[in-house]
Amino acid sequence: MKQETIDKLKATVRDIPDFPIKGIQFKDLTTTLKDGEALAIIADELEALYADKGVTKVVGIESRGFIGGAILAARLGAGFVPVRKPGKLPAITLKKSYSKEYGVDVIEVHKDAIVPDDVVVLHDDLLATGGTMKAALDLINEMHPKKVYVNFICELSYLHGRDVFPKDVEVTSLFDF
Ligand code: AMP
Repeated sequence: MKQETIDKLKATVRDIPDFPIKGIQFKDLTTTLKDGEALAIIADELEALYADKGVTKVVGIESRGFIGGAILAARLGAGFVPVRKPGKLPAITLKKSYSKEYGVDVIEVHKDAIVPDDVVVLHDDLLATGGTMKAALDLINEMHPKKVYVNFICELSYLHGRDVFPKDVEVTSLFDF
């Protein structure tokens, strides 16, 4: 992506100090999503990253990962799989607990969501500590897909979240702070 485009996207992000708890600098991407031009760039750039990788499923992390994840899946002609908070999914699930930048949580995915032939992109809006996505990666790997990629729209590099992923997992983000 051109630096000018990256700068344009970054300028749409709104900083909210002390949300949801004191000490957290929240990067609000709703101001990015409501900007039609920014949203179109994000859709194009996500598609370009994975267009030739044979992706069959995009997994979106509840809830902000559903937006970019569903856009990417549709662009690639891949299926969309939700990873959700506990008690939301109706069929048999796999579960994983994890800690994030603020608090501890559990995520679930349908046990039959991924098959061994799948090439998967895991997507969330933002990489902070990486706890959420690492838990999702562990969950998805329990279903033994052929290949897994990890993707974010935005990465908070100063939190070094990408260090939690195994070296053989390709982690991408469209822009970082
Ligand atoms: P983490 O597990 O720490 O990487 O947290 C990632 C999840 O929490 C993502 O779904 C983000 O939407 C959200 N999140 C965590 N920290 C922030 C932050 N500083 N600004 C915006 N979103 C955040």
